[in-house]
Amino acid sequence: MSRSAPTHCPYCALQCAMTLTPTDAANPASPPVTVAGRDFPTNRGGLCKKGWTSAELLRAPSRLGAPLLRGADGALHEASWDEALDHVARSLRGIRALHGADAVGVFGGGGLTNEKAYLLGKFARLALGTSRIDYNGRYCMSSAAAAGNRAFGVDRGLPFPLEDLDGAATILLLGTNVAETMPPFIGHLAGAQAAGGLVVVDPRRTATARLTDEGQGLHVQPVPGTDLALLLGLIHVVIAERLVDAEYVAQRTTGFESLRRSVASWWPERVQSTTGVPALTLRRLARRLASGEGTYILTGRGVEQHVDGTDTATAAINLALLLGLPGRPGSGYGTLTGQGNGQGGREHGQKCDQLPGYRKIVDPEARAHVARVWGVEPDAIPGPGVPAVELLQSLGMPGGVRSLLVHGSNLVVSSPNVAAVREGLDRLDLLVVCDFFLSETAALADVVLPITQWAEEEGTMTNLEGRVIRRRRAIAPPAGVRDELWILAELARRLECTATFDTDPELVFEELRLASEGGIADYSGIDYAMLDRGEAAYWPYPRGSAGTPRLFADRFAHPDGRAKLVAVTVRASAHPAPQPGELTLVTGRLLEHYQSGAQTRRVPELDAAQPEALAALHPSTADRLGIADGDDVEVANTRGTVRCRARVTTDIRPDAVFLPFHYADAQAANLLTSDAVDPISSMPEFKTNLVRVTRVARL
Ligand code: SF4
Repeated sequence: MSRSAPTHCPYCALQCAMTLTPTDAANPASPPVTVAGRDFPTNRGGLCKKGWTSAELLRAPSRLGAPLLRGADGALHEASWDEALDHVARSLRGIRALHGADAVGVFGGGGLTNEKAYLLGKFARLALGTSRIDYNGRYCMSSAAAAGNRAFGVDRGLPFPLEDLDGAATILLLGTNVAETMPPFIGHLAGAQAAGGLVVVDPRRTATARLTDEGQGLHVQPVPGTDLALLLGLIHVVIAERLVDAEYVAQRTTGFESLRRSVASWWPERVQSTTGVPALTLRRLARRLASGEGTYILTGRGVEQHVDGTDTATAAINLALLLGLPGRPGSGYGTLTGQGNGQGGREHGQKCDQLPGYRKIVDPEARAHVARVWGVEPDAIPGPGVPAVELLQSLGMPGGVRSLLVHGSNLVVSSPNVAAVREGLDRLDLLVVCDFFLSETAALADVVLPITQWAEEEGTMTNLEGRVIRRRRAIAPPAGVRDELWILAELARRLECTATFDTDPELVFEELRLASEGGIADYSGIDYAMLDRGEAAYWPYPRGSAGTPRLFADRFAHPDGRAKLVAVTVRASAHPAPQPGELTLVTGRLLEHYQSGAQTRRVPELDAAQPEALAALHPSTADRLGIADGDDVEVANTRGTVRCRARVTTDIRPDAVFLPFHYADAQAANLLTSDAVDPISSMPEFKTNLVRVTRVARL
């Protein structure tokens, strides 16, 4: 008798609850489980089409069923696990001996379970002895995380349960398209919509922006790259019109005077000339945000994935603090984490500057604590490494990384300036990729290790609310694939590392609890049993406590208990204006696809609905360029050229072109994006790159 497994979706950070029920395993043509939405506070039984179709990948014909080794003929051939792991360990030892431990790099992912993320960080530092580990969350959450840490002393995406939004009268969404990226989320916007208080800031008229139609709110469509100026203008109005919550600011923040001076010149008419947003709209929006209880400000990648993303997220936080929103019941500020475990993935040691529990790797106390848990001397833990883009830029370069282990990332689709990344991967002595499929990155590897999928494994994830949830196994994996915990343990053994590498997820979690104890992201009071009982577990959850669904009620996490207002300003060089003939490239997601599309492009229904990248152009722009809907076009700049078809739509500004970033090869939007990074967060500039669009003969 098959048993159902209550679990959560494999994709985004909403982590919708679902029930998987095993089906007739003898029928290889049908998915081995059925998927049903399950009631949970975030999704209330709802799933989007990605979640509904997620089981189709479990027995997809293209799923890898055995390790692959690149042979002398240059092709990938099936190998046994012993052959593959022996080869990897032997090669790593050789590279280390020749070039030193930092010649070995590890690239993790925000989709890994907490257990995998934790063990990967430990593996890199102890089994490989390298400081060169970072992960794809650098492309996703790093700016918001840096801003949250700077202002609040802690980075938890939503510092309150998602259900709190239900009672909001006003919600300001900055650069997030939740109606497509996490559709069940929009149920939490209904109250603000009904109150006419949903405000969406986005250069595109997205599905989320359309929720503001018919008097249900406001869509603000600024010039791409001017979000920071827009926020400085809102702060200016809030201060000038005495809309500041003076008591809150006096009692709970520092830095007001400096902030006040920094926005003095951002009067609404100046902001209008920069952003294109009318001064009157700006004033009305500021007044609406300050109109009383029930206001939330939420940011997403649209305003964060910039070279000034940290400062832009900081400005959003400044605005929220001036209005007295964070920590006050029924109001708040948050950032919407994207990847499935984007939150947990940034807490347990995958980041180059971090140890488990969100501890700083340079902090002697943090090092001593983690070293005790790991049973090593603190000196055995390498110091800080380099962030993702810098790590990738060093591939195969003198003094750089010569071998790379990739877990949960499709680098040649999702990285900025992917042509350069591809060249770097080609220069490596060894590329090892763990994946379910031969992704575009796995296809370049020397060794491909096939791994379990979500329905075949146990573990925990931490959703966008900072709530730890259980992933449960519904079916056994195919015979030829392995769990990444097992892979790490086997490699550590072959590398003669004497530290413990458990393969039982619950044991790994128990160790993670100890390692995180006393840190910012303290999981020490959480265990599998309580999660299995359905208890809500929001970190920080120190041992013996009841967890923390809502942060900041009494104090912020800085030593003085106050939040920091940080004066930020616009850097003219951050977003150069388009020259005649140029458009600003805006990238983003589609309802049907997730991240690099490595999974969703393999689901027939999703692929059929959105089989190709389309370059969205405004009718006036298309007219000027002589382009009609459906024409073949090239979108190009000095970094590369995307070849695709045009979609002519009023949903985009005339000065911009939109490309989804889910596609590969000649349709990879990241052929065009810059690997210039934010100086604080090391976030690359994904959102405002200058391009030219031309009509070309049929491809
Ligand atoms: Fe999965 Fe996100 Fe869709 Fe929910 S919204 S079903 S978590 S992809």
